[in-house]
Amino acid sequence: MTIFIFQKSQKLIKWFVFLYSRKTNLLFFYRWIFFVLQFLMSEAGASGGCSPDGRDKYLQQLAQNHDSMFCVEPLKWCPHLEGSVKPVPDNGLDTSHPCVTCGDTTENWVCLTCYKVFCSRYVNEHMVEHNKAEQDHHLTLSYADMSIWCYDCGQYLDNPILYPARDAACKHKFKE
Ligand SMILES: [Zn+2]
Ligand SMILES: [Zn+2]
Ligand SMILES: [Zn+2]
Repeated sequence: MTIFIFQKSQKLIKWFVFLYSRKTNLLFFYRWIFFVLQFLMSEAGASGGCSPDGRDKYLQQLAQNHDSMFCVEPLKWCPHLEGSVKPVPDNGLDTSHPCVTCGDTTENWVCLTCYKVFCSRYVNEHMVEHNKAEQDHHLTLSYADMSIWCYDCGQYLDNPILYPARDAACKHKFKE
């Protein structure tokens, strides 16, 4: 509601400036102020009447904006975390491993269920294909930037369940 009034006020301020610039006589100017006040009161009343709906819509919009503003912020949890993340193989992870389908080495992901390595959607989409072929393999770790992506949620994730895999990859990549 406040924002609504603010937007309206901006329009009205423009009118004031316009009227002032025309050197309108003072009486006319005061009548305008009266009109403006009436107008503002009626607007406030109108939106106040439907405030629960209006407010909910506003909050929803705010939440959506918030989501898009922080779209790279990883989720703390997703329904695919439990069950699909298998223990890291004993011999660790090889972050220089090529895509098992096309052999590309530029931008690969490792599946956290079967630990096979496939290339990204920006190379030949072999991890995308793997996710479609293996319906219960959801989570992947990027050998490029160590981010973890859930193909089924379309979101980055950050949860302690994923740390052993990420640590193993970091250990290999940065020779920690
Ligand atoms: Zn897999
Ligand atoms: Zn590939
Ligand atoms: Zn998920």
